[in-house]
Amino acid sequence: MDIAKLSKIDLHCHLDGSLSADFVRTHAKKTLPADDAALYSMLRAPERCRDLAEYLTRFDLPLSCLQSASDISDAVYDVLKTQSADGVLYCELRYAPQLHTAEGLSLRDVIEASIDGLQRAVHSLPIKANLILCAMRHHSEEENLAMLRCGREYLHEGVCAIDLAGDEAHFDNELFAPLFAEARRLDMPFTIHSGECGRAENVALAIEYGAARVGHGIAIFDRPDIISLVKEHRTGLELCPTSNFQTGAVKHEADYPLSSFLSKGLLATVNTDNLTVSNTSVTKELALCMDSLGLHENDLSVLFQNSVMIAFADDNIKHDLLSKR
Ligand SMILES: [Zn+2]
Repeated sequence: MDIAKLSKIDLHCHLDGSLSADFVRTHAKKTLPADDAALYSMLRAPERCRDLAEYLTRFDLPLSCLQSASDISDAVYDVLKTQSADGVLYCELRYAPQLHTAEGLSLRDVIEASIDGLQRAVHSLPIKANLILCAMRHHSEEENLAMLRCGREYLHEGVCAIDLAGDEAHFDNELFAPLFAEARRLDMPFTIHSGECGRAENVALAIEYGAARVGHGIAIFDRPDIISLVKEHRTGLELCPTSNFQTGAVKHEADYPLSSFLSKGLLATVNTDNLTVSNTSVTKELALCMDSLGLHENDLSVLFQNSVMIAFADDNIKHDLLSKR
């Protein structure tokens, strides 16, 4: 089985954590080490971080490269090009618009720049894509609501959903009920990072709020009550194995719940989280799953079908993806 040659999908990929080293070299506003190894040590997180907070420190340099409209557009193109070279046919790329306004761009400027990069990529590369806009846990309710309302104007125009990202352990889902009530009112689809490094109950809350999917969700592994809820609601699970080991969300490969989730019929998928910070690709993630996490060859088509099923893509894209499997 040559995984590199398979058709692949990535539903959970952060823009800022996935920039190529070449992109960072050409877009950085400060002098960088000439040596690639030294640069990678600034961009990649250790294989085992102390916690999610240490992992998140690797986003500072890439974010500083993404403060103008052309930088943002080029970055979206750069990451989709990398994904396409890995055989990814459909990618949902996410980022937090508010983190790109430090030098004067408005939310609208940022979102339109990202759509520009996306359109250039899908018109010139064999890949389809959509953008997921992230609210941030440490931002105020007003900031997150403003992002939601602005992003909603671009739904079906390159934007497919919103998300909530950041430090789950210190900002529980309970704090964000008003944001997702407004998303529901606006018919804006959403996924929520939940049960990554926080409580399993965050997954139950995400479902209560109406999330179609959750980012990671691995904390439910020993909670049959929440697993039943996920199954009943057909909630999509966006697993990102390498990242989960790096952040310490899962300590041992034998404990990784992917096979268990699949055997229970949950809509689990395998994704990258961050191509650069996690030094990964969909091919590498699937290889890890096969080599060390108990995934069998026939599970690969189940994962692909699950990804199509839970994607925030329109029916044309879904139909096209299923025909290419
Ligand atoms: Zn993530």
